[in-house]
Amino acid sequence: MNVPTQIFFDSKRARDFNGFHPWVRDHALVEPAVPIASGEVVELMSPGGGWIGRGIYNPSSRIRVRLYQWNRAQELDTSWCEAQLVRAVHLRERWMQRHQNHAAVRLVNSEGDGLSGLIVDRFGDYLVMQVTAQAILRWLDTIADWFHRQLSPRGIFLRIDSKTAQHEGMEPRDELYRGQSPAGPIELTENGVKLQFDLVSGQKTGYYLDQRANRVRAATWAGSGPMLDVCSYLGGFALAACKVGGPSSILAVDSSARALEQAKVNAALNEFSNIEFVQADCFDYLEELVASGRKFQTIVLDPPRMASSRGQLGSALRAYHRLNLSAVNLLEPEGTLVTCSCSGRVTRGDMLGMLASVSKRTRRSIQMVEGLGADFDHPIDVNCPESEYLKCFICRVA
Ligand code: SAH
Repeated sequence: MNVPTQIFFDSKRARDFNGFHPWVRDHALVEPAVPIASGEVVELMSPGGGWIGRGIYNPSSRIRVRLYQWNRAQELDTSWCEAQLVRAVHLRERWMQRHQNHAAVRLVNSEGDGLSGLIVDRFGDYLVMQVTAQAILRWLDTIADWFHRQLSPRGIFLRIDSKTAQHEGMEPRDELYRGQSPAGPIELTENGVKLQFDLVSGQKTGYYLDQRANRVRAATWAGSGPMLDVCSYLGGFALAACKVGGPSSILAVDSSARALEQAKVNAALNEFSNIEFVQADCFDYLEELVASGRKFQTIVLDPPRMASSRGQLGSALRAYHRLNLSAVNLLEPEGTLVTCSCSGRVTRGDMLGMLASVSKRTRRSIQMVEGLGADFDHPIDVNCPESEYLKCFICRVA
């Protein structure tokens, strides 16, 4: 057996170091005397020489070590990786057996499933693996083979977006990894709504499964008056509201022309004819709507991630404030505001503080009636608060 490479964390960092957090940053570590290769297995040691955990080293990333194991007796090998996949899939099966089966489901949720940097979404007969850590590359074949054996998917796609690739020192990839591509867009049903989308060219893994339950909750609170769905992507919130016969009309806004084209197809598939789609930047467009005097009874704000590092928190909160301020100004009295954040750095407390500031500024009371998160297939690692990225607050605005 090889002698494992040991790496020590800096004694100055000892106090604020959470040894069970899967990310170990560069500044928390003592620079190794001999360079360690990218992808090498390392054992993290306390300054006093105590064993903490086992992970993978990446000299190109600010997350210098990703920890995957806290049991010294185990090895970071293929059988460990497969055991993680078994646990991940079992969790979804357990929930779906007791509740409802979903053809579209997140099977692996990165840190939340002990596999920091790996997301696997199932869309019917196809799987999409999204890799956000170089460490995961060593297990790609193991993962694809395991899913192939267990689920016999028609095709497995691999996605590594260029921004992540840059942060992690790897090549961006967007390819069919195993099997075959679907001949055209694939069609799925979510909560009774038909959805079509293109697996090959969609955003992230193709569709945002994390908001599945929240779309239904939001629809439950939507009034019968006009609704505004901001950052609508394929129309998830708008379609869910139409399904329960809610709003008289819906205005859906997104900056992506391609997403809007598909959203229009989805509206037609479900025979919903009261949705108007507009391509615009949400920040400017909402301010124009305020100036025009238009009002809505329900507004959904589901903007993209605004803070990917601690340094961006201030500007992210200002952006959320700007968007939520416009939304409150567009709401009729007693309207419903569904406001979301998918930035892991922004906490629930930050969101509440931002809403309190909007409330003071507009002199309108804001009551949060539901504080929701991501759906059942997106577990959170309690040692990694950043993995609780999705916040979805349903509020009544006086
Ligand atoms: N609400 C959607 C998911 C939204 S994801 C659902 O239920 O599935 C975020 C969306 O915001 C993406 O579709 C993206 O194209 C869009 N977007 C990003 N920046 C934007 C901007 N400045 N203005 C409007 N839309 C934007």
